[in-house]
Amino acid sequence: EALNKILDIKGSIRVFCRVRPFLEIDRRRIREPISTGSEKIVVKSGGTRKEFEFDKVFAQEVSQGDVFVEVEPILRSALDGNNVCVLAYGQTSTGKTFTMDGTNEQPGIIPRALKELFHQASSEGESLTFSMSMSEVYMGSLKDLLAARPTYRAYEPVTRCNLNIQTDPKGSVEIEGLTEVQILDYAKARWWYNRGRRARSTSWTSVNETSSRSHCLTRITIFRHGNGSSEAKTEISKLWMVDLGGSERLLKTGASGLTLDEGRAINLSLSALGDVIAALRRKRGHVPYRNSKLTQILKDSLGDGSKVLMLVHVSPCEEDAGETICSLCFAKRAR
Ligand code: ADP
Ligand code: MG
Repeated sequence: EALNKILDIKGSIRVFCRVRPFLEIDRRRIREPISTGSEKIVVKSGGTRKEFEFDKVFAQEVSQGDVFVEVEPILRSALDGNNVCVLAYGQTSTGKTFTMDGTNEQPGIIPRALKELFHQASSEGESLTFSMSMSEVYMGSLKDLLAARPTYRAYEPVTRCNLNIQTDPKGSVEIEGLTEVQILDYAKARWWYNRGRRARSTSWTSVNETSSRSHCLTRITIFRHGNGSSEAKTEISKLWMVDLGGSERLLKTGASGLTLDEGRAINLSLSALGDVIAALRRKRGHVPYRNSKLTQILKDSLGDGSKVLMLVHVSPCEEDAGETICSLCFAKRAR
């Protein structure tokens, strides 16, 4: 309750920043370009010094559990009936997937959120139920990751899985034909979730790594059934957890194997997302949801009465300082 109040006071959009630790493959430099405080990050590179403030900054050593502690109030808000979007933004290989999915030993936000939801449901009896969908946006098309028979071919599924997005009279966004599974317990939820993750990593083309070119969207729909469980009394909210495509500029895309078109599609949709969030931030005027598939899908969970948490991920390496500054500027616009 108290935390929800704080969220309301601070507005409906929050931005956290996470710095990835050095990996084996990083050629570690003597001078590290990044230093952090609890709400501040400083990037020093080539004689310039840039400082950014966010709602929270997670230094390299911060654990998955400690990140989740800060994300949890947003989940509560979804349980209270608000639509919620958690968005992982950043250059490829800065830890977006690590934060959202994690590993078996170090589970990320999505498995922890599922656990937390069922924990809450068990203490509330029958009144709380959930369903889940997983989809992927690639080159402006939407693919169902939980479909009964996933297709693994490179180009075909792009058209076959190009699902339509509709808005109902109440303003709720519906994705036509998207598989939505009832998740009755944590084990079943994990089973579906793992299946969706597998479908993501093998979709479009089985040869190349695709996650940097696509957005992966996990949606939990929360049903809060009123007394007497009459249809009219059921309150529905959506919790979106989104692993966005890599934000790197086109110039560098050769390094991550993106084609020009894939890079353009990702850049376009990320800038459309940035425009929407910036418009919401200004709290007036036209919000340009229509400019990308991504923002059309998330429309009813980005605007009035919804909560947005952007998790901007950055690399600790000096050679990435340029991208790091771009990512932090993007995130600053949202804040
Ligand atoms: P992205 O999804 O942004 O492309 P990944 O999540 O795949 O990046 O991370 C790249 C690599 O860095 C992976 O091997 C991942 O396990 C590792 N990694 C990222 N963040 C962390 C972290 N906070 N702690 C430990 N390893 C991390
Ligand atoms: Mg990833």
